[in-house]
Amino acid sequence: MKVDVLIVGLGFAGSTTARVLAEKGHAVHLIDKRSHIGGNAYDCVDAHGLLIHPYGPHIFHTNSQNVFDFLSRFTEWIPYEHRVLAKVGEQLLPIPINRTTINALYGLALDEAGVAAYLERVRDKREGQAKTSEDVVLSSVGSDLCEKFFRGYTKKQWGLDLSELAAGVAARIPTRTNEDDRYFTDTHQQMPKDGYTRMFERMLDHPKITFETNVDFFSARDRYAAKHVVYTGPIDAYFDYRFGKLPYRSLEFVHEHLPDTESFQRSATVNYPNEQAFTRITEFKKITGQTHKGTSIVREYPRGDGDPYYPVPRPDNEALFRRYDALAQAEKGVTFVGRLAQYRYYNMDQVTAAALTRAEELAGSLVA
Ligand code: FAD
Ligand code: UDP
Repeated sequence: MKVDVLIVGLGFAGSTTARVLAEKGHAVHLIDKRSHIGGNAYDCVDAHGLLIHPYGPHIFHTNSQNVFDFLSRFTEWIPYEHRVLAKVGEQLLPIPINRTTINALYGLALDEAGVAAYLERVRDKREGQAKTSEDVVLSSVGSDLCEKFFRGYTKKQWGLDLSELAAGVAARIPTRTNEDDRYFTDTHQQMPKDGYTRMFERMLDHPKITFETNVDFFSARDRYAAKHVVYTGPIDAYFDYRFGKLPYRSLEFVHEHLPDTESFQRSATVNYPNEQAFTRITEFKKITGQTHKGTSIVREYPRGDGDPYYPVPRPDNEALFRRYDALAQAEKGVTFVGRLAQYRYYNMDQVTAAALTRAEELAGSLVA
């Protein structure tokens, strides 16, 4: 099969790149080894009629007007602000930690200034820049809150201690002195009205775009004659693990439907930092706004082996990634983009932004 550009991966990275290139006149063919489009953001209706996210809850949020405008061409949106409670002891408390969390946990009645003073007293006053996630947490909330909300969750999620992870991981979670209990504060917080998969279908609906699912690049690459390849899978796999495996963290998603249950839990997601083997439970109808007499939930169990979902941000992994990235830079005719190919803990909007930039650069260098 002759194409201008072959794209490996039908997630945000691949689909965004495809659309930009197609609109600039390039014939694009995408393949994915999975049986569906959308990558990890794929959603579908389960056997009971509820819209679910098979690969865990995906909440769209961005401060980028450019990304929001691009995606808005393929979907309408419904406003949605995500809220999460953490189960600590017998209590369900807001995370990110805020005024409500502190007052409820310690039986206090502090105002905003009181919470700020409290945190100032308990936090670990460290010199210099935070290097690890432990530095981030201890220097913002001190050891008791660290143990109750962060240490156990992180150990479960990554199989590593907070001190072994780069600062950026825990820095995703802010600390607040007010009562804002939203998980995100971005300008745009919306869910695609008809779901992510429908949004991808529209993005891929272009005369210059074709795609196939259930096709693995490594076994099928000889079938295609492409002027250029865009690769969005794990970067170490592309180079046949030449320098050894780059660690990616995996999850097992255990889905459950509860018939005749109007509501399973108080918030869309409940985090379990301590006792349970899973990290969190998400109830989909609280995100999608669907009304249904039953409800569908997912529990996330972190795993060392399995599909690669998260790069593991720590210095030695970054050093190994740099070695692969040097090969990637030298690889003629191939562009690497996306969470797995760039080994970056990217959210959906960051992947879209990266793909928009790389696709523009690539379009400039390809002859239509
Ligand atoms: P992917 O979606 O992983 O797509 C890559 C595709 O390449 C895959 O479909 C894969 O099958 C395919 N592929 C790989 N190798 C090959 C091969 N050899 N041949 C053919 N195909 C191949 N982001 C948010 O913004 N908000 C959230 O709430 C959020 N929640 C998340 C929850 C979980 C549990 C996870 C794991 C991620 C979450 N994310 C969230 C991050 C989001 O999933 C990613 O940023 C985004 O989906 C990455 O898109 P991508 O195209 O880079 O990668
Ligand atoms: N985290 C934690 N306790 C929580 C929530 C998050 O310790 O209740 C830490 C943990 O290390 C986690 C990281 O913060 O991996 C980022 O959390 P986020 O919710 O952004 O993770 P994601 O949704 O990407 O899995």
